[in-house]
Amino acid sequence: MSSGYAGSILIIDLTDGTWERVPLDGQEMFIGGRGINTRLLSDRSRPGLDPLSPDNPIVLGAGPLIGTLVPTACRLSVEFRNVITSGLGSGNAGGHFAAEMKYAGYDHIVITGKAPGKTYLYITNEEVCFRDAQEIWHSDTWSTELAIRSREKNLRLRTMCTGQAGINGVAFASIVVDRGRTVGYGGGGAIMASKNLKAIAVHGTGPVEVAHPKELLNTLDRYMKTTFRRSKAVQAHQRGGTLLPYQSAGSSRPHGVRNMSDEYWPDTATASISREEFDRDYVVQRKSCFACPVYCSSLYEVEGIRTEGFHANSFRAFGSNIDATSARGAFLANALTNRYGMDGDHTSSVIAWAIECFENGLITTADTDGLELRWGDIDTVITLIHQIARREGFGGRVLAAGLHEASRLIGRGSEKLAMLIKKNGLMEAATRTNKGWALGIMTSTKGGGHLRGAPGQEAQAITPEQSREIFGIDHLPEPTSYDRKAELVVWQERYKAITDSVGICIFSTGWSDVELAPVPFLCDLLELVTGISWSPEELMRAGERIQTVERMYNLVHGGFDRKDDMPPRKLMDTSVSDGRYRGEHLDEEHWNRMLDEYYRLHSWDIPTGQPTEHALREIGLSNLIESASGAGIELPQ
Ligand code: SF4
Repeated sequence: MSSGYAGSILIIDLTDGTWERVPLDGQEMFIGGRGINTRLLSDRSRPGLDPLSPDNPIVLGAGPLIGTLVPTACRLSVEFRNVITSGLGSGNAGGHFAAEMKYAGYDHIVITGKAPGKTYLYITNEEVCFRDAQEIWHSDTWSTELAIRSREKNLRLRTMCTGQAGINGVAFASIVVDRGRTVGYGGGGAIMASKNLKAIAVHGTGPVEVAHPKELLNTLDRYMKTTFRRSKAVQAHQRGGTLLPYQSAGSSRPHGVRNMSDEYWPDTATASISREEFDRDYVVQRKSCFACPVYCSSLYEVEGIRTEGFHANSFRAFGSNIDATSARGAFLANALTNRYGMDGDHTSSVIAWAIECFENGLITTADTDGLELRWGDIDTVITLIHQIARREGFGGRVLAAGLHEASRLIGRGSEKLAMLIKKNGLMEAATRTNKGWALGIMTSTKGGGHLRGAPGQEAQAITPEQSREIFGIDHLPEPTSYDRKAELVVWQERYKAITDSVGICIFSTGWSDVELAPVPFLCDLLELVTGISWSPEELMRAGERIQTVERMYNLVHGGFDRKDDMPPRKLMDTSVSDGRYRGEHLDEEHWNRMLDEYYRLHSWDIPTGQPTEHALREIGLSNLIESASGAGIELPQ
């Protein structure tokens, strides 16, 4: 086994309480982390199975750079079948869990089956212990880790767990890693609970070998001095996490406002949840992930509840998307979703939808058990968060099912207000203004979200020389233009698949600052750590393969194709109301042309958006032709 990799996959069967260690393979095709995870998931998934069936696996992956000194190499990839969509469920969390996995001797962990009783797993170098979780079954995500540390008498172990939301079957329950890090999309917390699995704890003490340690140190030293520490994006994240750069732009940046009905939020509103106030009133301590000098996260406390990580997404989820301007309320709402273990984005999208329905008379107090739902009323939002997590009242009866199902349950035209893509609730900014960003979100293989192909580069000040060198595009057009954006999205999809698979954080990549972690540099790092050489073309080809396996997974298991890459009508029918981007919206004809180009660049079938047999063969994925055929799907030639 080459250096960098631990060399093993741990396969755990919860039903029998057995485990085995099998040799790792597939690095040359899928790199590691998210890439090998996706292949492992795809190989083990049968079409038509309920996502909560014991036969569906949860797959964890720690890429080859994790456990070394490479900055930000800490990301844990988790893949599973999405509870809401039946397509891909996927997320990527920071913290220390992935490094502990590597030190315990595993690149990947595959968990199948259903334990006979409430269980948590304790994984060390030597063994896998199946422990009784009855006492902690109803604990929140924070208390769960503390209780397991105390029971195992090991303060160094790290956990991933499900909170009360998962235990109570909330469709958008998240997996919480290291207390403050989240695998949000897809209902992973509900899948863990369906397996009678409360938590996985891991602690390892083994080494991660590095092929060329001296050269790696020299390369990293140079990179830190000349690039990483000088990056304005890194410096901004060091000063104030993702919140500071997002919020300090005020109304001059596009937001997501009132259930994504607008993208203009006035300066007075954006200033109301300020980073300065956050630091002054709520922060206990700044925090960072394994091997990361950035410290973009914070431990904070509000009304006696401690939790970690109030980011730009949290600002949008419990600020602009519900038009609320209470810093205290936003921090409390975010802390509760974290402690209960529920995805903040989806929580915001389903609550914002309910408020818009109420404001428009589509639902009344007769539906909500007397609750008045109004824009800006953060206290009612907090009440709904409690209801959802505990499965009580209107929140527990309707909203906990997820936005797609909730809008189906209510009906009465409320479906038109549901901001859905591939059945997932959307809670995004800039989807009318930044056209490449919008395309990346709508085509994301996670089913929405800006952490796949949405190109952060679109809003960066990139010189024509940089653009030519990196993307092969002479001049990057304005964010509001549709021109050349499909190229940018396809590039970002492949690049993100690589960075997730090697295991580094998105904030230290070209997505944040185009000078960070260019593809040739990633090739150098991989060679120095693993001893395996990659050319930039080969690495981008691996990224293409990973992206394509995920697209195929969504087609075979979720039935998603071109029709599911269309944005919600609201983004086409209503425009930005004011400010710098006044009048911006998505135009259907332009969108379709951009989508055509996106499929053409992928060599996928333009009318359906399905990968063709030819395209699959070209990148060594002909096995997926048979899987599609087994599911009754005849792919275009
Ligand atoms: S930049 Fe922030 S999220 Fe990323 S690895 Fe560092 S501390 Fe974690």
